[in-house]
Amino acid sequence: MPIRLNVPFIQKDDAKKLGARWVPDVSTWVIPDHIVDINPFNAWLPRNGGTFVKYPYLIAKNKRDCWKCHKETPLIGLGARNYITSVFGSPFSEPVWEIRNYPVFFVDIKLVDDVIASIMHEQYPFFKNTYHKTLGKQLWLNTCTHCETIQGDDYNIDRSYILGGYLNEKRTLFRGKQMEQLPLRFDYYIDSAIYEGEYYWDGFEEAE
Ligand SMILES: [Zn+2]
Repeated sequence: MPIRLNVPFIQKDDAKKLGARWVPDVSTWVIPDHIVDINPFNAWLPRNGGTFVKYPYLIAKNKRDCWKCHKETPLIGLGARNYITSVFGSPFSEPVWEIRNYPVFFVDIKLVDDVIASIMHEQYPFFKNTYHKTLGKQLWLNTCTHCETIQGDDYNIDRSYILGGYLNEKRTLFRGKQMEQLPLRFDYYIDSAIYEGEYYWDGFEEAE
């Protein structure tokens, strides 16, 4: 799907020359699907990097017993099979956008675009932008629907076994048929860490 660009009016002709298209009903410039390398559009992409999630837009769902109040609470995880992520040659360089095709989950989520934020707010209000005291930052996290205690990602990030603990938990939580797709019109933006693991394949393939 197309990627939305933040093009100031005065630069619209530059964007157009590079192949950007105007989408009138949402008043935005986009990189159309047939353009694979998005680097020429860097001026209108996030300067601090991040990731654009390509179709299919996967969402994993499960439930767990809250570690604090012990009542059952839903959990979700945002995942992808295809995405374009940014790498930096140096802290001062511009991001270089690279296409990857490998199943991943997004964790340590600092920012999601407005479309995703609005879907979360309406459909998954327990997954929200929350202040994590231990980490000292705002992150998108699962919270208990009964007592609002943070669940999920932080459960592992709090501990020293970040990677192993996280992957094991996701494998258990998000295996198989619990993977669904978000119906989106544009590729969405997310600023987060990315965790991958070959055993995700079961779940991701069943999402076809
Ligand atoms: Zn609870």
